[in-house]
Amino acid sequence: MMASLPVAVIGAGPVGLAAAAHLVERGITPLVLERGESVGAALLEWGHVRVFSPWEYNIDAAARALLDRSGWTAPD
Ligand SMILES: Cc1cc2nc3c(=O)[nH]c(=O)nc-3n(C[C@H](O)[C@H](O)[C@H](O)COP(=O)(O)OP(=O)(O)OC[C@H]3O[C@@H](n4cnc5c(N)ncnc54)[C@H](O)[C@@H]3O)c2cc1C
Repeated sequence: MMASLPVAVIGAGPVGLAAAAHLVERGITPLVLERGESVGAALLEWGHVRVFSPWEYNIDAAARALLDRSGWTAPD
C-alpha cells in the first residue's frame, strides 16, 4: 500500500524543485505543494537582486537534464 502513495515535496523553491527532478529521474511522479502563487514564490520576492553565485552552481543536474530535454537554453 505504501508503494502506491505519492511522494510529496513541500515547497517549490530551488531545493524542492531539485528534489522533484531527482524523483522524476527515478520514475516517480512527485506531488509538489507550494503555498505561494507560483513556483519559486520566495525567490520572486527578491528577483530584482542579482545572484552572487555563477549560474553553473545555481542549477541541479537532474533539473538541468529535464530542462535540456525540453529545449531550454541556459542564460549566460
Ligand atoms: C537576496 C538573496 C540573494 C540570494 N542570492 C543567492 C545566490 O546568489 N546564490 C545562491 O546560491 N543562493 C542565494 N540565495 C539563497 C537562496 O535563495 C536559497 O538558498 C534558496 O532559495 C533556498 O531554496 P529553498 O528551496 O530551500 O527555499 P526557498 O527558496 O525559500 O523556497 C521554499 C518554498 O517553499 C514554500 N513554502 C514554505 N513553506 C511552505 C509550506 N508550509 N507549504 C507549502 N509551501 C511552502 C515557499 O513559498 C517557497 O516557494 C539568496 C537569498 C536571498 C534572500
